[in-house]
Amino acid sequence: MTQNQKTVKSTNKLPDRAKVVVIGGGIIGCSTAYHLAKLGWKDIVLLEKSQLTSGTTWHAAGLVESGGFFDTTSLGMTEYTLDLYNSLEKETGLATGYKDVGMITIASTPNRLEELRRIAVFDREFGVPIKELTPDEIKEIWPLINTDDILAGFYSPRDGRVNPTDVTMSMAKGARMMGVKIFEETPVTGFKLDGYNVTTVVTDRGEIETEYVVNCAGMWAREIGKMAGVSVPLQATEHYYMITEGIEGIHSDLPILVDLEKNAYYREEVGGVLYGLFETDSVPWALDGIPKNFSFGEIQPDWDRMMPHLEEAIKRIPALEDAGVHKFFCGPESFTPDLGPMMGLAPELDNFFVAAGFNSLGILLGGGAGKVMAQWIVDGVSDVDVTEIDIARMLPFQNTSKYVRTRATEALGFMFAESFPNKHFKTARNIRLSAFHSRLKEAGAYFGSYAGWEYPDWFAPKGVEPKVEYSWGRQNWFEYSAAEHKATRENVTMLDYSVMGKILVQGRDAEKYLNRICANNVAVPVGRCVYTQWLNKTGTIEADLTVTRMAEDQYIILTGEATITAVTAWLRRNIPAEAHVFVTNISSAYSVLNIQGPNSRELISRITNADMSNEAFPFLTMQEIEIGYSLVKAIRVTYVGELGWELYIPTEFSLNVYDTIMDAGSDMGLKLMGLQALETLRLEKAYRDYGSDIDNTDSPLEVGLKYFVDFNKPDGFIGKEALLKRKEKGLEYRMVQFLLDDPEPMMHYGETIIRDGKSVGYIMAGGYGHTLGASVGAGPVENEGGIASVDFIKSGTYEIDIAGTRYPAKASLRSMYDPKLKRVRC
Ligand SMILES: Cc1cc2nc3c(=O)[nH]c(=O)nc-3n(C[C@H](O)[C@H](O)[C@H](O)COP(=O)(O)OP(=O)(O)OC[C@H]3O[C@@H](n4cnc5c(N)ncnc54)[C@H](O)[C@@H]3O)c2cc1C
Repeated sequence: MTQNQKTVKSTNKLPDRAKVVVIGGGIIGCSTAYHLAKLGWKDIVLLEKSQLTSGTTWHAAGLVESGGFFDTTSLGMTEYTLDLYNSLEKETGLATGYKDVGMITIASTPNRLEELRRIAVFDREFGVPIKELTPDEIKEIWPLINTDDILAGFYSPRDGRVNPTDVTMSMAKGARMMGVKIFEETPVTGFKLDGYNVTTVVTDRGEIETEYVVNCAGMWAREIGKMAGVSVPLQATEHYYMITEGIEGIHSDLPILVDLEKNAYYREEVGGVLYGLFETDSVPWALDGIPKNFSFGEIQPDWDRMMPHLEEAIKRIPALEDAGVHKFFCGPESFTPDLGPMMGLAPELDNFFVAAGFNSLGILLGGGAGKVMAQWIVDGVSDVDVTEIDIARMLPFQNTSKYVRTRATEALGFMFAESFPNKHFKTARNIRLSAFHSRLKEAGAYFGSYAGWEYPDWFAPKGVEPKVEYSWGRQNWFEYSAAEHKATRENVTMLDYSVMGKILVQGRDAEKYLNRICANNVAVPVGRCVYTQWLNKTGTIEADLTVTRMAEDQYIILTGEATITAVTAWLRRNIPAEAHVFVTNISSAYSVLNIQGPNSRELISRITNADMSNEAFPFLTMQEIEIGYSLVKAIRVTYVGELGWELYIPTEFSLNVYDTIMDAGSDMGLKLMGLQALETLRLEKAYRDYGSDIDNTDSPLEVGLKYFVDFNKPDGFIGKEALLKRKEKGLEYRMVQFLLDDPEPMMHYGETIIRDGKSVGYIMAGGYGHTLGASVGAGPVENEGGIASVDFIKSGTYEIDIAGTRYPAKASLRSMYDPKLKRVRC
């Protein structure tokens, strides 16, 4: 135990009440408490079952970096973390051990080179000064490295290392200086609840009444969540490093070396090398529960399993072969099913926050994560994009033991594996199958994994194995997906859309309360379908979905597969308990087939007696029609910009309807469509995708959705006042559609948008516009002084920087494909 640990140990009596109880005295709990106090909150208590840092934090390797992140939220958190760890000593008097030795990430395959170049462009856009190095330049800095197979290195000078225990102690001290009370040796054993609120935290030293709980219990967070009925999907996994005895030529100023291909990182440690491993087949730990008194604990390392990895490491740094081993360490770290942390307000309750599951990045995200959590708790709404970190993105089944354990075997290695557009996990697959699965498989579907569903990405032609060959360019299925895209534009295609979340909202007061939640007007006649956003009190978007009025007292909401938990929680929180409104998740009750294309009317008319004409069945309406033996709810709506219908089919009739449609379409050239074609079609049409090109930090005004806001409806809507204020203030950015002039390069995500030679934003989502004839994408164009009129957008000359090369592009605020919606309303 260090001196610092002793200084924060408290034997005082627990208070009876606290505004906030933070559970867990690792880096995340201490950072959250520190930042809550920084925001001026008083009466904060932190409870730690053992001693501060005794969970996972004490044994972390202490790497901190900002270079290498490919999303603004992580980048924002890491940049802030580096600043904080650099300045904390001045404030608290306790050093953090931050040493900005820099970090070199090496690329030894062409794909990796492309990946790291794309990331470098993105990071530079946000001020991280990444420099590409030649193998010789790397060798000059790191003479002991074998550069034979190295193509390049990416050097990030601010990155480095800290002492995780010292950082945590420094934050704990800072928190205490601002009045936070920290109690060690105080395990939380349960909660008392009143409705959707925790009222009391129970410990073995007494109880504390509280307004907010923050579960920062690391790998114990799942267990603590269960005590309150909250799902926190994560699993502890074995994580290794080895420290050698001193090696000549290794010194404390050496940059950290990250060798992604060999799943390894290296840094100096007391004159030797600390070699850390991200093994590809990792081993979940403590499947029967974390041992009761696990504190400053270690796991018995498995030498045999490590030897092949060590041999690879020796190939990279030959001097390791003769070095003595000072310490071979294995400790547990928690991993989540999608490698994003679990942060935010738990959807099951109204005052229970979570910050856990940091996937071996808890030290380098720690400062920023605490800041994000504190702001989220204090304001009730986060000011950063949380779509990939919000715990509400998870579904209940993802917290089953089998799911978290199975995925954990892959998660650790996935961190260092080559990343590609549309890459999917291989584990925990084939667990959520739509009713059409066997038919789609027979038809050559290549399945991706979406919120546990197997969802066709594209279809291989007859005789071709549906197998993906990943790359940053045109992947092997490019032409297959292009054919699906083309068939949708020119003929007719069918997409299994069953993965979408479906929620039934019914009751006498359904219209009244749903209309408060929706920014658009849903007080519409029965049979109308309304596209709308749900806004929070700051006027930014919480959900993006369709609401269809099925009856006077009944609506069906269609939302994304991963947003259903958040959307359901939002309904619960915003509909008073006494209202006559009942919300039911009916996702499994209906399969959905989405039929799109100019010939969709003819196809459906062949199999129903309903009048599908434009007059009898206008755009954005719903009717119950007969198809085969089934009654199907048909909604005339499109996400691809063509004439089309979504068919909601009672699940047990799914195959009957599917076969009926396929038979009817056999002589029409009906094609099946996958998600990749859906994506390129919607990008051409500039339709938005929540969590991809729009998120919780956008309001409808910036992203071209103001036409779906009804400012004039009688009782207003949540966020209206804030939205009006935003309107008055003027917009700082606008979401713009881009089309490259050159038909070859591929936009995916993160490419820099350059206007008149100056970078103004980045592509949020890109794909190949098979109809427009080049890569198409959407991204914000920002201007410091605001964007007073569309002339600003129109008057610029644009280029897109892809992996360091600039390509001229056209920009448009309106969709470049069928901007007047002629094809949709016909
Ligand atoms: C080998 C290894 C190397 C690593 N290297 C790095 C690195 O270089 N860089 C990096 O960023 N990350 C690294 N990590 C990951 C990093 O250590 C973690 O992400 C981070 O420490 C997680 O912090 P935490 O606060 O969430 O969890 P913890 O540190 O585990 O804190 C949770 C705390 O909750 C307490 N607790 C549990 N149950 C209760 C209860 N019932 N009541 C009260 N308290 C409770 C625990 O005692 C514990 O102290 C590494 C991890 C490992 C295993």
